[in-house]
Amino acid sequence: EAKDNGGGQYHIYHQDMYQRVAHRVMMETEVRQALAKGQFSLSLQPQVMAKSKKIYGFEALLRWRHPEKGMISPDDFIPILENSEHMVELGYWVIRRCFEIVKQLQRYGLKDVRIAMNLSAGQFVDGNLPQYLHALLREFSLPARLFELELTEQTLVKDIDRAIEMMNNLRTIGFSFAIDDFGTGYSSLAYIKKMPVDVIKIDKSFIFGMLENHADYQIITSTIAMVKNLGLTVVAEGVESSAQLRSLSESNCDIIQGYYFSKPVPEKELLAFLDNHVVDGCWKTAPQVTFQ
Ligand code: C2E
Ligand code: MG
Ligand code: MG
Ligand code: MG
Repeated sequence: EAKDNGGGQYHIYHQDMYQRVAHRVMMETEVRQALAKGQFSLSLQPQVMAKSKKIYGFEALLRWRHPEKGMISPDDFIPILENSEHMVELGYWVIRRCFEIVKQLQRYGLKDVRIAMNLSAGQFVDGNLPQYLHALLREFSLPARLFELELTEQTLVKDIDRAIEMMNNLRTIGFSFAIDDFGTGYSSLAYIKKMPVDVIKIDKSFIFGMLENHADYQIITSTIAMVKNLGLTVVAEGVESSAQLRSLSESNCDIIQGYYFSKPVPEKELLAFLDNHVVDGCWKTAPQVTFQ
């Protein structure tokens, strides 16, 4: 009886594994085709300085418009592709697109507005990343300080010593690094000490209930204080209300990102968005949530 159960469980596990592998292989093929067919785009979400309302930058977020399945969320395909060559290829596409967008922002007159981009684990350990970034800096003649590379603890665990070496090299040229989803990993404090980073992004799961949940509020305010004491910049992600904004600003949070200011803006609508919401590099209007 027990043996039968075990066999059954093994069978289910085996099928599940098989399905996951099949799903991944299908995704990999689809991603390659989607790249060729131009189904990927970026959306840009503004990051606004809490006190001055100056536009600090935009985070570039990948969007996949699938002809049959519609919009596929990055959370539904990036983790599956995490370690594949296709993610590295897609990652290069994202980086190049970010350079093009910064160039657009420069032409628009926003010379100091930066772009933050998410790197995946495979992309980060890929030895060609520094060369690729170097080449783009030359091609676009843009300074590295306009680009921020976002990493999560999961991205970093693979080969931490090599990661630190790469980060140090890229920081020497002027790129900056952010730890994304801070607080959700297992050893945030060890990372913040070890990593040559410039920016800490507090995960949105702490922000959502910060005004109702005392523990979340305490975690946020003490994280902000610690990050500031270490001389780093702190971003709050997932800010949806003016009350949250006010509280974060009073706690000396540097930068606010979230639906309160704007949902991620499709790249095609970026210039119209700037026309409508930004004056002299600062956020001007009452927030309007218009994008998906
Ligand atoms: P992330 O890097 O932590 O990005 C922030 C996510 O929070 C985005 O989801 C954004 O739309 C969402 N968000 C921002 N403000 C709010 C808010 O006020 N309320 C709520 N409910 N959500 C908010 P998105 O665009 O679906 O991206 C999900 C994740 O996919 C990203 O999380 C990132 O880990 C990954 N990702 C996105 N683009 C890329 C990419 O180009 N490369 C890699 N490797 N990962 C990416
Ligand atoms: Mg991010
Ligand atoms: Mg995040
Ligand atoms: Mg995330």
